[in-house]
Amino acid sequence: MTTADSDHCISGTGATPVTGVGTAWRYDDSIALPPEADEDEVYPPAELERYETARQAVHDALDAERERSRKQVGEEEADIFGAHKQFLDDPTIVDATRDAIKSGSLAEHAVADAFEESIEQLAATGGRMAERTDDLRDVRNRLLRELIDEEDAGLGDVPPGVVIIAERLTPSETVALDPDEVAGFVTAEGGRTSHAAIVARSLGIPAVVGTGDSLDAIADDETLLVDGTNGEVVRSPDEQAIENAQANETAEVRDDRVSTIGNHQVEVAANVGSLQAVESAADFGADGIGLFRTEFFFLERDAPPTEEEQFEAFERALSTFNGQRVLVRTLDVGGDKPVPYLDVEAGTNPFLGLRGVRLAPGARPELFKTQIRALLRAAATEHGDALAVMFPLVASVEELDEVLAVVESVAETLDAEGIDYAIPEFGVMIETPAAVFLAPELADRVEFFSIGTNDLTQYIAAASREEERVESLHDPLSPAVLRAIKQVIEAAHATDCWVGMCGEMAGDPKMAPLLVGLGLDELSMSAVTIPEVKSVVDGLYDEAAESLADDALAASSSTEVASLIDEWS
Ligand code: PEP
Ligand code: MG
Repeated sequence: MTTADSDHCISGTGATPVTGVGTAWRYDDSIALPPEADEDEVYPPAELERYETARQAVHDALDAERERSRKQVGEEEADIFGAHKQFLDDPTIVDATRDAIKSGSLAEHAVADAFEESIEQLAATGGRMAERTDDLRDVRNRLLRELIDEEDAGLGDVPPGVVIIAERLTPSETVALDPDEVAGFVTAEGGRTSHAAIVARSLGIPAVVGTGDSLDAIADDETLLVDGTNGEVVRSPDEQAIENAQANETAEVRDDRVSTIGNHQVEVAANVGSLQAVESAADFGADGIGLFRTEFFFLERDAPPTEEEQFEAFERALSTFNGQRVLVRTLDVGGDKPVPYLDVEAGTNPFLGLRGVRLAPGARPELFKTQIRALLRAAATEHGDALAVMFPLVASVEELDEVLAVVESVAETLDAEGIDYAIPEFGVMIETPAAVFLAPELADRVEFFSIGTNDLTQYIAAASREEERVESLHDPLSPAVLRAIKQVIEAAHATDCWVGMCGEMAGDPKMAPLLVGLGLDELSMSAVTIPEVKSVVDGLYDEAAESLADDALAASSSTEVASLIDEWS
């Protein structure tokens, strides 16, 4: 915190550790409802039909938004829209809306009232759950706009270079912002884990949230400095203030590798889901790519990508990183990430169905072989030595043996065709409890592991990563998850396997001491958090980090682990 006075400086919570300067631009998301009608003017069956049609339209829009976010922003952000579908279908809200319509309300008013009640109840719970009120508002606004037949949120025409001032931003509003155009945003409501903050982080948009009423005093067109590191908004900043904030950015980009005081080298890499993101990862000082989600090649199109298309993309990523590791994950769709033209049924329980490596080589061998051909060819290009390939959702040794056998047969075919190829480093994503228990056997077959805590947590706790109601159980700080992570690290290090982590947990700077103390060799995350994580790792005392990890492993609850981490920071 600086010592600036409160007229000049507004405090909140920094959402993204970067700084932006621009002119204030106020955004009002209110929606004008039609006037209440007399009961005898309303025909309930017609209103009910309008409501159900609007609900279906919002369902379809959320599905589309989810796929778009998955491709452009990231997995966790995309899952927000899955959670929104649950709010849309929440029985309490749906029943309250239907009842109000049956008693003579217009659909718009019935929706607004039913959501308002749930928003008030959620807000009253306080803490992290209260931050989900943004999501409820988002769903309500979508439904109301559909009913009123109003165009989508008014953030499509934000003038360039402005700092958006709003009561709150919904996840869909945030995801629509162009990080190259907008200078930042400030919201009166929200916290670090609100979805708008998560999306801002992954897009690298300077943001301060939760400032309270102090925003009312800001005049339109006033110049604002959004200091996302210190959680401050400076009004009419002078040049010195701007320079100071920029110098203070934890996001000081470092291209060098970092290690602890005891010389434990930790590779800090980026998770990417597009070629654009590969470029931006390099700008944030990533030591390499730790998770290249290849799904984006397959989404929002009518047919699978060609071998050539994939080969060119891998080659480009390798040359951007110029000899630093580029770790590509083979296709991870199916089940929860349906791709219509692949014609794979989601099944009754998509998260336990045909997804990840299960889809290939068994169900769609040609897709898998094409991707492996592109990868083996890329491994033979100028920077191909830096290529690593991993398989998602492995749950048995047989599965891994089968995919490795396909790799061998693809290599033989390329050989016979006289096409240049090389064999990259192979690894397994540890995302299932089965893979944790089989880690010693898996480690004998590959060169590395990457722990996917997003999935691993949901399978260990039997709590869906998309289900808001069990969010508290989906906690990677659970000692159960931490002990699994430790078991995997020990199994890997007993051989020559290195171990990284690419779940969201790896990108939280507060977790870095614990994760390094547990013994991870690599952390892979949204590029924007790389500088901050590097600065935490650099200068970490090994003994202190290890003792934090030991205490966390011995803890009996997530709450205890969270307190240990809070005490540390
Ligand atoms: C994970 O499960 O932690 C992971 C990184 O994979 P995804 O989020 O793409 O399922
Ligand atoms: Mg996963």
